[in-house]
This record gives sequence, C-alpha cells and structure tokens, in this order.
Amino acid sequence: VPAITADGVSKVYGSGDAAVHALRGVSVGFARGAFTAIMGPSGSGKSTLMHCLAGLDTVTSGRIILGDAEITGMGDRQLTMLRRDRVGFVFQSFNLVPTLTAEQNILLPLELAGRKPDRAWFDHVVDVLGLRDRLRHRPSELSGGQQQRVACARAIVARPDVIFADEPTGNLDSRVGGEVLAFLRTSVREMGQTIVMVTHDPVAASYADRVIFLRDGAIMSEIVEPTSDSVH
Ligand code: ADP
Ligand code: ADP
Repeated sequence: VPAITADGVSKVYGSGDAAVHALRGVSVGFARGAFTAIMGPSGSGKSTLMHCLAGLDTVTSGRIILGDAEITGMGDRQLTMLRRDRVGFVFQSFNLVPTLTAEQNILLPLELAGRKPDRAWFDHVVDVLGLRDRLRHRPSELSGGQQQRVACARAIVARPDVIFADEPTGNLDSRVGGEVLAFLRTSVREMGQTIVMVTHDPVAASYADRVIFLRDGAIMSEIVEPTSDSVH
C-alpha cells in the first residue's frame, strides 16, 4: 500500500472564463520509504499537487489517500489532527514562529501533539544541521539558510511518516543544501519515511529515488533511481 496516493486528481481554480486547470486527472502513488522529487516549469501545478496531497488545499475531483485514510472529504479538524500526527512540512517561506526561539520552533510540532521529545534524536538532528549554537536565537536573528535548517529540523525531529518539502534548499548555498538533502535521504533510508519534494534544482532532484515531471497539470514522465548512492 503506498503511503500516499492521488487518484484521478483534478484541481480547478476559479470558474467560467477565469477557470485555471491547475491539475488534470493526476494519478500517482508514493511508496513508503521513497524520496520523490516533483519537477516542472513554473505554473505546471507542482505546488498545487503538493498542497492537495498534504490536505492543505481541496481537490476539485478525484481522491487523496494518506496511508489507509481517504483525506478528501475530511473536515478541517480531522485533517489538522492527521497532519499533526503524521506529516512534516519544509516550506520555502519557513513558517517559523517569530516569537519563539529556534529550539522552541523545532520542538513545536511535538508540543502541539502532546508528545515528549526524544532528546538524543533532537541532539543528533541539531548537530547534523549545525544548529547547536543557534538554539536560543529567534528567526529574525538567523540567516535564511539557518532558518531553513530550523524548518528542516522541525520537520524531522517529530519523525513524521511523511515529509512535504517545497524547494527545501532554495535559500541555501550548495554545500549546506547538499547536507540537508543527504540528511533527508538518510532519514528516509533509516526510518522508512516518505518524502515528496518540489524543486526546480536538478542537483536537489538527484538526491531523490524518483523524479516526476509535471507539465500543464499532468504527469509528463518520470525517472526512477536517477542516480546511484555513490554520486553524493
Ligand atoms: P507551480 O508550483 O508548478 O509553479 P502552481 O501549482 O503554483 O504551479 O500553479 C498551477 C497553476 O494554478 C498556475 O496557473 C497558477 O497560476 C494557478 N494557481 C495556483 N494557485 C492558485 C490560486 N490560489 N488561485 C488561482 N490560481 C492559482
Ligand atoms: P511557489 O514559489 O511554490 O511556486 P507561488 O509563489 O507560485 O509558490 O505561490 C505561492 C502561493 O500563492 C501558493 O499558495 C499558491 O497556491 C498561490 N498562488 C499561486 N498562483 C496564484 C494565482 N495565480 N492566484 C492566486 N494565488 C496563487
């Protein structure tokens, strides 16, 4: 059973002459333990697909199934709980809480879920992402790259089943970007997580096991295992 399935998903924004067909009958499954990159030109529907998969946006027709639960048709409360328990986000805009320190931001998903942090895992994630000496800083006191690493740590510390990443390395220099991607990939390999990443960057996509290409709201092609582990 795939971790996430889109079954004939269409998304139309607006109506009549102003209607935009952002997704046109997309069917795709994301296996447990797979790291998938979604690529395609600007406006091809990448963000819309990811938002629909994550239940952040509603579909116009078709179904989204997360594990054994069909999320299309779920109410906001149920969706919020499902996301809280099972899903992590690494978005370009970070969505860090400005009044909280880096450490508080990283631990927020666990706090909201009423779960105790695994301190050893927290320390490991913080060290790998080079955030040890930034934990007491607020987002405004961090560089773009540091904020992105905090967002990444926040998504990983709670060990969600699924991570959605929108241009996770967009604001990072290539060395740190490579470290973040390698870290995500290791966490997929070791914990059987599922990662869906939207990216424009072919280097970022090369860390994935599979690359899906969108065009005009439809899947044009895909490549499985574009590179071997030895590349990075
Ligand atoms: P990508 O992420 O590949 O750049 P998007 O999913 O953001 O593509 O957008 C796909 C299409 O849907 C584009 O034509 C975009 O302008 C349109 N679109 C996206 N979000 C909205 C929205 N909230 N309202 C209207 N049109 C939208
Ligand atoms: P990205 O950088 O991920 O492609 P965008 O800058 O295209 O994101 O879009 C940012 C947000 O604006 C998204 O939530 C998207 O749904 C929304 N959006 C994109 N295009 C449109 C549009 N034409 N009209 C209204 N909202 C849009």
